[in-house]
Amino acid sequence: MSRALFDLTGRLALVTGSSQGIGLALAKGLAEAGATVVLNGRDAAKLDAACAGIPGALAAPFDVTDPDAVEAAIAGIEAVHGPLHILVANAGINLRAPSVEMPPETWRKVLGVNLDGVWFCCQAAGKRMVARGAGKIITICSVQSELGRPTIAPYASSKGALRMLTRTLCAEWARQGVNVNGVAPGYYDTELTSALVQDPSFTDWLCQRVPAGRWGKVEELVGATVFLAAPASDFVHGHLLYVDGGMTAVV
Ligand code: NAP
Repeated sequence: MSRALFDLTGRLALVTGSSQGIGLALAKGLAEAGATVVLNGRDAAKLDAACAGIPGALAAPFDVTDPDAVEAAIAGIEAVHGPLHILVANAGINLRAPSVEMPPETWRKVLGVNLDGVWFCCQAAGKRMVARGAGKIITICSVQSELGRPTIAPYASSKGALRMLTRTLCAEWARQGVNVNGVAPGYYDTELTSALVQDPSFTDWLCQRVPAGRWGKVEELVGATVFLAAPASDFVHGHLLYVDGGMTAVV
């Protein structure tokens, strides 16, 4: 009985930005829970290599910052494979600079992927889910949805905005049977954080700052994501689930 609550057999899931890192781990986890997964990224060759590691995975190369491409991709996926049940809006980037030096194009690039891109995907997938009266949308937020940090003004602004996008879509779509929630990772060793991983002083600081005393492993985000994609979370709406080793719980 309780196992069925986490069973994704027969579900179709799109994970944006899933050719590597967190997105790839989440796609694998959703597939292991029974879903057919559609992987996304801009680099088609990298995407095909990622798909090869997940039985039955499909590739949908598109740029989340292009609303026409997002709409065409989601329409195309549904035309061939049927209704999309799960969207994990994961694609994100981080470009660091002190705020006094941050060029406008850097600001726009980060907001373009992390906020506009998530919005375009949520809207294209969500309007179809709303029309059908069912769906699960998971935004990949961050501890920076809550906490500031020097040199990442556009990143933290985008992740804070995702918290409110998640809540606003919940306000609009919960009655239509669409669950919109967020998973908020702490610090995980991926390409996005490689500059921090390679800095021993950052790791020392992180291990002091995080109650769990270590970096997260990308597989540790799978449980929260499967939960928010599965029937187990049918009455969970507008929630951000922090998977951060306790970071946001303490000063
Ligand atoms: P990553 O290793 O850099 O992977 C990013 C993925 O997104 C790649 O597959 C990349 O593929 C894709 N991507 C980038 N721009 C895209 C675009 N415009 N359209 C479509 N796909 C695009 O990053 P990650 O660490 O796994 O992070 C994934 C998500 O988790 C992000 O939203 C990030 O903010 C969030 N997060 C990460 C951490 C962490 O510690 N790593 C912590 C909190 C939150 P292409 O380059 O081929 O497009």
